[in-house]
Amino acid sequence: MFLRYYTFFLLAFLFVPSLADARPQRPAKQLFGYVLEAAKMKPRSIGFYTKGCMAGGVQLPKTGPAWQAMRLSRNRNWGLPVLVDFVEKLALEAKEQDGWPGLLVGDMAQPRGGPMLSGHRSHQIGLDADIWLTPMPTNVQSYKRRETRAAISMLAKGGLSVDPKKWSDARARLIRRAASSSLVGRIFVHPAIKKALCEFADREKGSRRWLSRVRPWWGHHYHFHVRLNCPRGMRGCKTQPAPPSGDGCGKPLKYWFAKMRPKKIKKIKKPVKPRKKIKRRKRQPLTLASLPVACSTVLASGDPKRLGRLRYGVVGDIAAPVRNPKRGTGPNLAYKQAKEEAVAAAKTASNPISTLLGKLKGITLTKQPKKPAAKLTPAADYAK
Ligand SMILES: [Zn+2]
Repeated sequence: MFLRYYTFFLLAFLFVPSLADARPQRPAKQLFGYVLEAAKMKPRSIGFYTKGCMAGGVQLPKTGPAWQAMRLSRNRNWGLPVLVDFVEKLALEAKEQDGWPGLLVGDMAQPRGGPMLSGHRSHQIGLDADIWLTPMPTNVQSYKRRETRAAISMLAKGGLSVDPKKWSDARARLIRRAASSSLVGRIFVHPAIKKALCEFADREKGSRRWLSRVRPWWGHHYHFHVRLNCPRGMRGCKTQPAPPSGDGCGKPLKYWFAKMRPKKIKKIKKPVKPRKKIKRRKRQPLTLASLPVACSTVLASGDPKRLGRLRYGVVGDIAAPVRNPKRGTGPNLAYKQAKEEAVAAAKTASNPISTLLGKLKGITLTKQPKKPAAKLTPAADYAK
């Protein structure tokens, strides 16, 4: 009899961690990257810019009166309504007041946000958008042209300053317009562009408050990245702390330029033993289990059958998707499994048995321990 009880409890305790791990371990980009439509739910950003998803996303029209969305095959012209409104309004104002012919809009978010099959680490909760620094052509571009048009870097040779033949005050005015909106949390630009903006502000006089929101980061020399704050009172949307209040033109910018300048090479007298190569641990892809619980519900909502033909081919560690989804393998199967996993995960999150077993062991399955707030390093600032 005693042995039986003992076995029961032993089994129960062995079972609890496995329940806690029951949420799927598949890279979440393989799940969110295949979904073609938004989750028809109340609009909500769930989680953080680099770890979350989006419910109730809306699509930026591919062509508008003052914008054209680019790289349509990626299906990333989605966002929270507040982001889509912001982009449309910015484009219209830039056209009417800043002399822009219109804007080319790059990546926003996938229909349900989440991690992407390629590219960004952020753009996951429908509050990030990339705007090209190349003006929109006057004609409506074809699908193919939107895929192939090259983005033009604003940098001069050497990459330490903007090229005056490409950079212009009209671009500075556009970024200033975007950064002046109270909806915006941060705008990311290349350090050389930030420097050009500081010089622009020196010439223009007026308020420099907008400059505090413009933050230097690698890349971002052919587009700028707008990040909106979480809408007020949106539960589960984790916003980023406000950037430091200064204009960021002095010391912080020097830090970036020191990083960018190539270091002088010292003359080597003795032959130096080659250092052992340090194996860098590859960053593990985000899994559905590591995203907020509500993202399982977002992923599982609606009709899973609508799955488009993938245009990606093999991306990183993702199994080659079949060209014809009717064959029943590849993305179709992957999506079917993903859906099942997501449904199971959504159930596990509120399963009374698992909650009970969790309580027995003194743990709550759905709540994660709070981490102390991270220091604002440049990397934490960008969180890409
Ligand atoms: Zn971006």
